[in-house]
Amino acid sequence: MFMERFRLDGRRAVVTGAGRGIGAMIAHALSEAGAEIVVVDVDPNSAADTAGKLTAAGHKAHSRQADLTRPEIVEALCADVEAAVGPVDILVNNAGIVIVKSALETEADEWLKTMDVNVNAMFYCSKAFGGRMVQRGGGAIVNLGSICGFVATVPQNTPSYIASKGAVHLMTKSLACAWADSKVRVNAVAPGYVESEMTGPFRKQFPHWYDRWIDMTPMGRLAKADEIASAVLFLASDAASYCTGSILSVDGGYTSL
Ligand code: NAD
Repeated sequence: MFMERFRLDGRRAVVTGAGRGIGAMIAHALSEAGAEIVVVDVDPNSAADTAGKLTAAGHKAHSRQADLTRPEIVEALCADVEAAVGPVDILVNNAGIVIVKSALETEADEWLKTMDVNVNAMFYCSKAFGGRMVQRGGGAIVNLGSICGFVATVPQNTPSYIASKGAVHLMTKSLACAWADSKVRVNAVAPGYVESEMTGPFRKQFPHWYDRWIDMTPMGRLAKADEIASAVLFLASDAASYCTGSILSVDGGYTSL
């Protein structure tokens, strides 16, 4: 009975930024649980690549290219996906970027770009897909937050990223309260440092950062993308039927120190 609650058979899930990294792993996790997946990414090749791998593994998957920072594109994407694939039950807002620059180095366009992808695009997707879930009276949204939504991480200085993830956490809570009556659950996963294309270049360029990250993580290692995907699967599924507005830390203890 309990394992059944993690199944997503017959559900349709949109995963943004799923061309690579954590998003691609989330698409695999939700597929394995039985969902039909729409992989969305600004990069059409990577989106098609993830969807192709899912299809080759015997799952149902589609891909769409979209720059989610444009509200009119998001609305058109949503209408297209629902017409072609069917009503979307699950939205995973995973697309995100990081610009590692201190406050005094960050230019206005870099600040705005970070907010555009990490916060504004999440809102546009939530409004388009979540709005339809509200009308239908059910659904689940999972957002990718971060330990940076709780604490100012060091030694790197990333004020735009930190501010954006703080906004993600409170957008999650705000929409959760607004849509609870409509049975649309809205939660977030807050990963610590993950082995990924996002952190890889920094690890190579600034090895002392990596040492500090490990030092500040009680479990003494970075997360693997599948460990984040498992938490997303939980929140997207009926196993989390009483969770809404939750920010689930998956950080090896980082924010417990
Ligand atoms: P990544 O850079 O590997 O992947 C992000 C994906 O988002 C890419 O495929 C990219 O093409 C896509 N994307 C970027 N801008 C887009 C746009 N405008 N429209 C559509 N797609 C767009 O990143 P990742 O490491 O897999 O991170 C995924 C999420 O997890 C992000 O929200 C990130 O902030 C969060 N996160 C990552 C870490 C980490 O250590 N990697 C830690 C905490 C939180």
